[in-house]
Amino acid sequence: WEDILRDQAAIEEAATVAVDAALLEGVLMRTEGQPNASDVVNYAPFTLLPSAVPSALFEEAYAVQQDFNLLVDAISQNKEFLEHTLASTIKVDDFTARLFRIHQQVLEEGLAQSVFLGINRSDYMFDCGVDGTAALKQIEINTIAASFGGLTSRTVAVHRRVLQVLGKPEKASRLLPNNPSKGLALGIAKAWELYGSPSAVVMFLVEEVQRNIFDQRCVENELWNRNIRVIRKRFRDVFEKGSLDSARRLYMDGQEVAVVYYREGYVPENYDQQNWEARLLLERSKAVKCPDIATQLAGTKKVQQELSRPGMLEKLLPSHTEAVMRIRATFAGLYSLDMGEEGDQIVAAAIADPDRFVLKPQREGGGNNLYGEELRQVLEKTRDSPERTSYILMDKIRPQPAMNYLLRAHSPLQASECISELGIFGVYVRQGKEMVMNKAAGHLLRTKAIEHADGGVAAGVAVLDTPYLV
Ligand code: ADP
Ligand code: MG
Repeated sequence: WEDILRDQAAIEEAATVAVDAALLEGVLMRTEGQPNASDVVNYAPFTLLPSAVPSALFEEAYAVQQDFNLLVDAISQNKEFLEHTLASTIKVDDFTARLFRIHQQVLEEGLAQSVFLGINRSDYMFDCGVDGTAALKQIEINTIAASFGGLTSRTVAVHRRVLQVLGKPEKASRLLPNNPSKGLALGIAKAWELYGSPSAVVMFLVEEVQRNIFDQRCVENELWNRNIRVIRKRFRDVFEKGSLDSARRLYMDGQEVAVVYYREGYVPENYDQQNWEARLLLERSKAVKCPDIATQLAGTKKVQQELSRPGMLEKLLPSHTEAVMRIRATFAGLYSLDMGEEGDQIVAAAIADPDRFVLKPQREGGGNNLYGEELRQVLEKTRDSPERTSYILMDKIRPQPAMNYLLRAHSPLQASECISELGIFGVYVRQGKEMVMNKAAGHLLRTKAIEHADGGVAAGVAVLDTPYLV
């Protein structure tokens, strides 16, 4: 967009059109000041211009998504793998330990659930290697509450309008359609149908503070359009009004629940004692949980790191040779900090050269990772203690920055050097042993200024974007 970026007047005009287009299309968020009110809303932050994405890497990310769906599903059913992999983590990380205890408890009782629904988002950056060719490298896979599938379904139209206003109609027409909210809803609808009780509802398990409600409403709308009733409840409501019958069917206020779609429950702050009890009730039930607790555990960073060990993917996906190769090609270097020689060596390497790595605790939602000097200090402090095993280390990925404008309410229009992260939504449904749906359901491109090492859209760092394939 070099010619565009030089024309300040055109940029300013396009930004005005862009903001109105975002409001018109429903790219909305509640405000920080009134996070639970819908009578004061604003646009969700987004880039003025679409960002260039190499088409080969974009296709590679789509092509590997069904493989990742299979892998996550296989891990969720592999009790021994989860137990072995998380053994060191649960000794030092109380949150993972509590999730793991619920997992064990429901297995001991025997699962009442027979239909399984996974909605995940595998995130990548484009690493420029030493020779300058970009490679697709996975950042992480989110197996619970993967968000922005709704709003991103509406950002293409905004970027199309911006390019038209800037006199690039042929480029505007090349932007790919993208509708994850429909793909996600189709998965939920399939699980609801297989549950087999036409009067049962879909329950969105939502946060106390719901700034991102419009993203969820996009998926909800698709369900209502299919005549599926949706209710929105919090853990607190489940604690007060949820119950199981003798077949462990879940009822809320007397209404049977077929599917529980979690948009909450992935960080320790979401839980007090009552909420943990509510979570256990949901997990024990026959309702289709998206995700069930095993699938949530499959998305931990410790699991991600163990997957990168030689031979591990082959063990988890036997007779899927090509899937294993496609998955492995997306892995960056990942390292265990378990006590022992292997851990000691990588800790020493990271202390000597912290800028090569990212240090990650078992947390979700952005803003938790450590970089550079901070990484060095934490490792120096914890190097001889088991505390270090609550983290994993990962090679830092280095994408090529590009100029763009990040449009945020109440912020001045200003060019920034930016990097992008591509997410692919995966949806699958399994009934007993049989996969009845396995799809890539659309994509999400998030872009942030390079000065921010960490953080997503909800954390206020990244903004919504649209890929422009090159
Ligand atoms: P979270 O669960 O908090 O989203 P992530 O693993 O996605 O954790 O990390 C948060 C952010 O940190 C990412 O969106 C990305 O911007 C940055 N990040 C994570 N891992 C790396 C890495 N290996 N190299 C470069 N940046 C990274
Ligand atoms: Mg992330």
